[in-house]
Amino acid sequence: MTDHLIANYARLPVAFERGEGPYLFDAEGRRYLDALSGIAVCSLGHAHPRLAEALAAQAKTLLHTSNLYRIPLQEALAERLCALSGMTHAFFCNSGTEANEAAIKLARLYGHRRDLATPRIVVTEGSFHGRTLGALAATGNPAVQAGFEPLLPGFVRVPFDNLEAVERAATEHDDIVAVLVEPVQGEGGVRVPAADYLAGLRALCDRYGWLLMLDEVQTGVGRTGRWFAFQHGPAQPDVLLLAKALGNGAPIGALLARDAAAEVLGPGTHGSTFGGNPLACRAALTVLDVLAEEDLVTRAEALGERLRDGLREALAGLDGVREVRGLGAMVGVELDRPCGELVARALEERQLLINVTAGRVVRLLPPLVLSDAEADTIVRHVADLIRDFLSATRS
Ligand SMILES: *Cc1c(COP(=O)(O)O)cnc(C)c1O
Repeated sequence: MTDHLIANYARLPVAFERGEGPYLFDAEGRRYLDALSGIAVCSLGHAHPRLAEALAAQAKTLLHTSNLYRIPLQEALAERLCALSGMTHAFFCNSGTEANEAAIKLARLYGHRRDLATPRIVVTEGSFHGRTLGALAATGNPAVQAGFEPLLPGFVRVPFDNLEAVERAATEHDDIVAVLVEPVQGEGGVRVPAADYLAGLRALCDRYGWLLMLDEVQTGVGRTGRWFAFQHGPAQPDVLLLAKALGNGAPIGALLARDAAAEVLGPGTHGSTFGGNPLACRAALTVLDVLAEEDLVTRAEALGERLRDGLREALAGLDGVREVRGLGAMVGVELDRPCGELVARALEERQLLINVTAGRVVRLLPPLVLSDAEADTIVRHVADLIRDFLSATRS
């Protein structure tokens, strides 16, 4: 261990040397089952041969040229993502927070074009949009904002999954230009809104001329059992943000837009040196190929149901378990008490990678290549861990 890394992460004392499918191996050759996918990133599992070959081939051909020139792989990726999502145009960046920054800039420019001096974006409590200053201000978590004031102004905060609050915001402010929301709050505790929430937001956006901007950095690219979570219902967004699983670990983010929203960012308004370079785009194109060929989007839905059914059965009647919930392969188990220590326990005692978010929600975001037997192993370990934890902390 070195002292030369800035201490902004509280890391667990394990280092993985290699991976294979849903498994990781440490330097001693110990095998761990990954139920987190590097936080919703490695949907294809680790060291997928197709992706490894594509990246190696691209590295031998061309890594980067900059956006001063045409990039055919970027054009191909834009076409693919638009065909899958019903959007019409794409901008590429390198992360989820950058996709959110691009959306915030797009919304502000859209507002200024309508002669609004202080365009505002409606955002929700409990949301997570990233760590850079714009996305941080949009984020609905005072704990991650603390110490970084003054926060960027121009946001109107409302409770999540509450359409009346958005209507009220419309009556209180005449300079709202967009709503930015996650279809399922991930970091906020795997919170799934009512089935008509997005359609309700769509209707409000249509009524007031606002842009519906969906942060699908975590829910997108197959995770919830659809290519994009909004496809569970009828509401088509104006702006769609992607990152995490898009490159399966190769850094890439995207903003997709359509119609009026796609016309806002003209030459010189926004950019990125790396964004959409040949390596990242080759990775994302390969990820989309493999997801389609291996039918992993459909698999995400079945996998999530299997995990939730198994956990509900194994935890039935247990005091301290509030709810087992989720959408597709996003799974949350909410307990009645803080349970952050379960992450280290799962790693040490069960060689299992899980996460706890919002303090008391055990979160699973497994690779979509998981077998039924591996899913059942995860259920058994997680249920055992929760049972032991609850009985130990009760006394
Ligand atoms: C992870 C996440 C982000 C931030 O992505 P980074 O790549 O870490 O910047 C933004 N929005 C949502 C919904 C996320 O889950």
